[in-house]
Amino acid sequence: MARIVQKFGGTSVGDLDRIRNVAQRVKSCVEAGDEVAVVVSAMAGTTNQLVEWAKQVGPMHDAREYDAIVSTGEQVTVGLLSIALQNIGVDARSWLGWQIPLRTDEVHGAARIEEIQADEIIKRLEQGQVAVVAGFQGIAPDGRISTLGRGGSDTSAVALAAAIQADRCDIYTDVDGVYTTDPRIMPKARKLDSITFEEMLEMASAGAKVLQTRSVAMAMRHHVNLQVRSSFTDAPGTLVQNEEKQMEKQKVSGIAYSAEEAKITVVGLPDKPGIAAKIFGVLADLHINVDMIVQSASADLQKTDITFSLARIDLEKAVSDLTNLKDELAFERLVHDNNIAKISVIGTAMRTQSGIAKRMFEVLSEKQINMQVISTSEIKISVLIQADYTELAVRSLHDAFELDKIG
Ligand code: ADP
Ligand code: ASP
Ligand code: MG
Repeated sequence: MARIVQKFGGTSVGDLDRIRNVAQRVKSCVEAGDEVAVVVSAMAGTTNQLVEWAKQVGPMHDAREYDAIVSTGEQVTVGLLSIALQNIGVDARSWLGWQIPLRTDEVHGAARIEEIQADEIIKRLEQGQVAVVAGFQGIAPDGRISTLGRGGSDTSAVALAAAIQADRCDIYTDVDGVYTTDPRIMPKARKLDSITFEEMLEMASAGAKVLQTRSVAMAMRHHVNLQVRSSFTDAPGTLVQNEEKQMEKQKVSGIAYSAEEAKITVVGLPDKPGIAAKIFGVLADLHINVDMIVQSASADLQKTDITFSLARIDLEKAVSDLTNLKDELAFERLVHDNNIAKISVIGTAMRTQSGIAKRMFEVLSEKQINMQVISTSEIKISVLIQADYTELAVRSLHDAFELDKIG
């Protein structure tokens, strides 16, 4: 007997037949004697629609009301799945974030989980009842519903697994595991039997949305046994695990992309202490995440330029706030581009093998793809390029590093 958290994403609960299919999967675990807590997302497309409505009514909307709207998709699916389970003879009960309660911080729209009081859920699991938990949502200190950022149900699932000390957390999705790159744009992508936490963290933060980045960090911290699987087949999935257990050793483990980036250059800033702190302070106050940052060396020690990348959805807000500070910061002008993609090559083997950056840059130059900004970490190299070249870049790099072949 094991205690398991199963998380089903939007496509897996995308219509009533799929919800019935999920119920059958849950039932077979229950019949095998396992205690099961299920975390579900909203039906595919629902959250996008809700976000769109919020934007249309108020582009600069109140984040508390945004959460009131976008959290509703999961309320529907927990209810439907609970009924589907009850119909096939499985004792099940739905749980919204505030009912557990799953407590978060006050950052509406991108809240962090602070605590899950899981006593009641554990009691019910021990009595044989399935807990059907709404992903993506919690309750903020102001007593209002909060949401965890797009893709947040993965994080709900891992956090719940940690809180109830589950033996496993299985993430069921529309692909049967983690691939060397997004199989949607590279048909030759290869499924990995396992991937290290570190690589998965870098892949996710570089745009591979198969797992939300924070869910990977949380699983790593709380030693959650994490696995990505398909809700449509019984194929074995991908284990996310510690490096010592890793069998496969390749030069590069994967390629990730994020095609929804933007870039801002602040031109002609005074080259003196405190300026960068002010710019990024303003952005932090707006809860805008900045990714890559480069400051060009000033030739005359008087003026400099700072370029940084951010999510495309945050561009408008960032430009408007920085423009308001033009006089205070004494810069000459802002240049921005919303058609940017970030391409990243990831692999722990980079620690010991050289030449990976060189090869990456060669491949992009052979395809005439201009690199606008470059950044590296111990196990990742990322570049910004024009978004139109995203697929070409991913496919060419995947071929060049022969990721379709096993080590
Ligand atoms: P869910 O709704 O189940 O949470 P998501 O759409 O959030 O599913 O994530 C699954 C998708 O992630 C896949 O359909 C795939 O297109 C995409 N993806 C991106 N990179 C990868 C990768 N390296 N391996 C697997 N899937 C990936
Ligand atoms: N429904 C939410 C979203 O689409 C959360 C999730 O699916 O993980 O972002
Ligand atoms: Mg997801």
